[in-house]
Amino acid sequence: MTASTDHAMAEKAPASGDSPALLSVKGLKKYFPVRKGLFSRVVGHVKAVDDVSFHVLEGETLGLVGESGCGKTTAGRSALRLIKPTAGEVLFDGVDVRKAGVKELRQLRQHMQIIFQDPYASLNPRMSVAEIVGEGLKVHGLVSSRVELEAKVGQFLERVRLDPSFVNRYPHEFSGGQRQRIGIARALSLSPRFIVCDEAVSALDVSIQAQVINLLMDLRDEMGLSYLFIAHDLSVVRHIADRVAVMYLGKIVETAKTGSLFRSPKHPYTQALLSAVPRADPTRRSERVVLQGDVPSPLNPPSGCAFHTRCPAVMDRCKSESPPLRDAGDGHTYSCHLDD
Ligand code: SF4
Repeated sequence: MTASTDHAMAEKAPASGDSPALLSVKGLKKYFPVRKGLFSRVVGHVKAVDDVSFHVLEGETLGLVGESGCGKTTAGRSALRLIKPTAGEVLFDGVDVRKAGVKELRQLRQHMQIIFQDPYASLNPRMSVAEIVGEGLKVHGLVSSRVELEAKVGQFLERVRLDPSFVNRYPHEFSGGQRQRIGIARALSLSPRFIVCDEAVSALDVSIQAQVINLLMDLRDEMGLSYLFIAHDLSVVRHIADRVAVMYLGKIVETAKTGSLFRSPKHPYTQALLSAVPRADPTRRSERVVLQGDVPSPLNPPSGCAFHTRCPAVMDRCKSESPPLRDAGDGHTYSCHLDD
């Protein structure tokens, strides 16, 4: 087992023989200024994403999990430059997303899309399905008439297993699961290569969640898509993700292939999250680890290991020393003083 003190650099590049990284994120930071007083002076920063590195291979799904407020949504949106990162490098197919000009960013946006959490809030109630799904086609000049637009939108509705005759209906006429399929059709309309699924199934009933996850997996295989699949629930990413990165308070604390993470989690935070996931095999049930207290404020994160205020295995040194990133082999890395 080896250790490195440089978190940003320690995220391993794909080994030779692997497909190349489609998205490569290094040392990503997003700090939000906190202002106070009459003159709105900056009195501090919320470190929502603090030195995060990860990559997504062509055709791969990376799960990004953690409790609410851990920074996973901010990381996903910063990678797409829907919000501007404070620092770090984001390369999409070799193009620097942070430095892209207006024209380049417009081209990149065709290839990088997002599916939002709330299927009720993310669709404009005054727009028809044809207008919602076909908006990108119009903006990018990919259709020349209403007839062509409706025909193309109908094809995308079929892809998400909806009836193409729905093109002239409105969002209120659909169930939550159907609305999310419309959101997926919108994301697919520009034939992207990469999609951020931002808590894309969290607002749905469990039975509908499984259908939408199966649909996303089918679409990935049919269209050669890559996903960054953001979720607060590890059980949701289990079936769809090839690898999983676990975030806590703005940092990635563990990354591994999905099987390895579920079989042998190294970080106490991952172990606690996993202990809450129901297992089909009763002989493999582990004792539930209940984390005490809330996630500390990212405005004033704890010193040393940021998890030390809640960690069941905390040691004295954890309170002052930042843990190094350890390599457990086969792409499995974690940040912890245990095993020193
Ligand atoms: Fe727990 Fe210490 Fe490891 Fe942090 S470094 S996860 S506090 S044992």
